[in-house]
Amino acid sequence: MNQRQPIPQLGLVLIALFALSILFASANSDALRLAYHPEGDFTRVILAAPGNRTYTATSRGKTLTIRLEPFNAVRQRGLVNTPQVESWSLEPKNGYGVLTLQTRVQLGARNFKLFALPAADGLPTRIVADISGSSSAAPSPSKPASTRAPQKPRLTVVLDPGHGGIDPGGVAYVTEKETALDVALKVRKLLEAAGVTVKMTRTGDYAWQGVGGCDKGCDLDKRADMGSTDRNAFISIHVNAAANPNAQGVMTFLFGKSPDPETLAQAERENGGGSTGKVLTAQASGIARSLLNDQLGRLNATFSRRLANGIQNNVIAQTKAVNQGVKQAEFWVISKPRIPSVLVEMGFATHPEEGVRLGTSAYRQRIAAGIARGTLAFLGL
Ligand SMILES: [Zn+2]
Repeated sequence: MNQRQPIPQLGLVLIALFALSILFASANSDALRLAYHPEGDFTRVILAAPGNRTYTATSRGKTLTIRLEPFNAVRQRGLVNTPQVESWSLEPKNGYGVLTLQTRVQLGARNFKLFALPAADGLPTRIVADISGSSSAAPSPSKPASTRAPQKPRLTVVLDPGHGGIDPGGVAYVTEKETALDVALKVRKLLEAAGVTVKMTRTGDYAWQGVGGCDKGCDLDKRADMGSTDRNAFISIHVNAAANPNAQGVMTFLFGKSPDPETLAQAERENGGGSTGKVLTAQASGIARSLLNDQLGRLNATFSRRLANGIQNNVIAQTKAVNQGVKQAEFWVISKPRIPSVLVEMGFATHPEEGVRLGTSAYRQRIAAGIARGTLAFLGL
């Protein structure tokens, strides 16, 4: 299939024309997702394109047009505040649809990438546009000088203190649900002071679990759902436990396949333990496999790893705890978010010294400072 957009006026220069005609095969619902990624200073636009579709994309100056055929979406438009994108509209025409993005930056080969991702396990085919760069003429990645430059968007971090309500988590020298909440509230204070918007999955001793038939999996889903793509990072906060009282130290996880049976057992415990934990962990393992086969999934994992490294290194610097490093495992709560997501195990409730330290406000404050510093560095703040 070959489509051409006529150039509407003389004098307009076609800077780039992508004529990618791809036959898609999938079925799902239509959706546009647009998110600013501070970790790389770019805006990613994802247009879900289920069904058999062809598309043609044209960029000219500060306008990107993607024509999808066939298409029967309802007319929608929106303003966005990212350094790269100003507004978007999705309009149905006779049998086809047009997505138009108004950008703040001139679209060129250096700052604009467009690609299609094939359908993968439950995800439809997606057309992805990544737009980077700043609108000021002089490239100034660290110190924007132009007064006309758009404001940096307000960044949002989701903090998830693990457990709560009927689920205390690990109980030894400290109770996990209490320690996790206290540290999360301290992190919130520090992030808010730096201008970050913070959303908490809970701010008290409660959870979805046990309310209205919501089980552990449902509880974890509700938390994970807060990691929507309009947010910038998802951080789940936990305390570790082990049968061996000598086990101690801090570890930070991103989502992925466990490297060994011990880590897998830890994921099963955090996923609810018992048969629930086994079922959720097995499902999460399937998600980990399909994410590995998905370009966006792999990209998000690299950002999650960067966030995990930042948090781990800063928590170790603040607490001088034993450094157990950054790992990956099938934690359900970080399997779903399509934004950089990590799970921090702040120390072992079962260690006679670390467990006692975890009970003190001063030590929790140091952990919180480490998590906040790592997060702010990741966000470029
Ligand atoms: Zn936990």
